[in-house]
Amino acid sequence: MNTSTHKGLSFARRMYLPRSVGLGIGFFTVAAALYPSHPPTWVWVLMILHGYGWSHGAYLLAKISRQPYKAERRNLIYDSLAGGFWAGAMGLNPLPTVTALSMMAMNNIAAGGPRFFLTGALAQIAGAVLGYAILRPELFPAITQIQVYACLPMLVIYPMAIGLVCYRVAVQLSKSKKALEKLSTTDSLTGLMNHGAWKDLLSVEFGNCQALKRQNSVALIDIDHFKSINDTYGHIIGDTVLKQLSNALTASLRETDLAGRYGGDEFCVILPDTTLAQATDILERLRRTVHEHTHLALPNLKLSLSIGIAAYGPHLTDAGMWLHEADMALYDAKSTGRNRVTSAKPGVKVCETLSAEFE
Ligand code: GH3
Ligand code: MG
Repeated sequence: MNTSTHKGLSFARRMYLPRSVGLGIGFFTVAAALYPSHPPTWVWVLMILHGYGWSHGAYLLAKISRQPYKAERRNLIYDSLAGGFWAGAMGLNPLPTVTALSMMAMNNIAAGGPRFFLTGALAQIAGAVLGYAILRPELFPAITQIQVYACLPMLVIYPMAIGLVCYRVAVQLSKSKKALEKLSTTDSLTGLMNHGAWKDLLSVEFGNCQALKRQNSVALIDIDHFKSINDTYGHIIGDTVLKQLSNALTASLRETDLAGRYGGDEFCVILPDTTLAQATDILERLRRTVHEHTHLALPNLKLSLSIGIAAYGPHLTDAGMWLHEADMALYDAKSTGRNRVTSAKPGVKVCETLSAEFE
């Protein structure tokens, strides 16, 4: 089932409850208004079929349609046309007419906005002209006590049904929004935070370090010669390795640590309230575990990691500079033989690199 069919069907399902409730109660509103004029039998039959059969028929029409959304919009127009017909048939008896048509208008505006409300209003007028032309009732007849009472259930119960539908839509919307937010901040392969979400957190943690004098560390982790793993075993195995590493990373961290996939074969972690020495211990353990792990199906597949760590210090002016220090430490780990954890030397590398860039 494609998305538009699914959307159309859920629209039709959403309309089923208010339509069933509205028509079921509306039957009494219209019957009380028409009874004094003793309409012919076919009018009563039509009224019963409309009141208790149409909501099921409308849902069926949308369900079997190839375009359920359009079919349901058509159903709503038929609703307005029929509502207008009954208003015309009762000679525009003021209270039942206003009750039925205004409830329908509320439904139309909730379902399709102001434009659809206008379309519905035109259908109501056309229906009213038709109903009046066929039955020729007395126009604006005097209202009876029983007709007043027959309008009350409609005025009380129908808005509650619409309210319930709107509430359900709001709950569904909030769930979808949360799911979408999660999707936009998650790396689809590993389930870790993605690059953008992690960098946002890095800025927040940098602010915390500055304001609250917290001692946080940042680590960048890169798989050694990952390209050759892809080349040797294929990208599917490469993907599995990335997933396994993300699992190992999560297992070796505390709940408060914030791990993400920086991109490609590179991972990133913020370790709150962790000194450089503590961070080195944690990541050294991870490096060793990964290196010592033997894959049962692929015993020749050996993995090693290069890891760069930088601790927050007052010399850092922004989160980018902090990350740059970790990156330089990672570069050191790579250039001094790989398969190791290297700590940043605060300020030195950044200054060297930046001044080298300016020379
Ligand atoms: P180094 O030791 O210097 O880090 O070498 P390397 O081969 O690990 O580094 P390089 O940056 O040359 O290669 C990273 C490779 O990661 C290249 C790219 O095709 C691969 N890669 C990036 N994203 C994915 C992914 O999602 N799945 C898989 N299987 N491979 C990926
Ligand atoms: Mg690599």
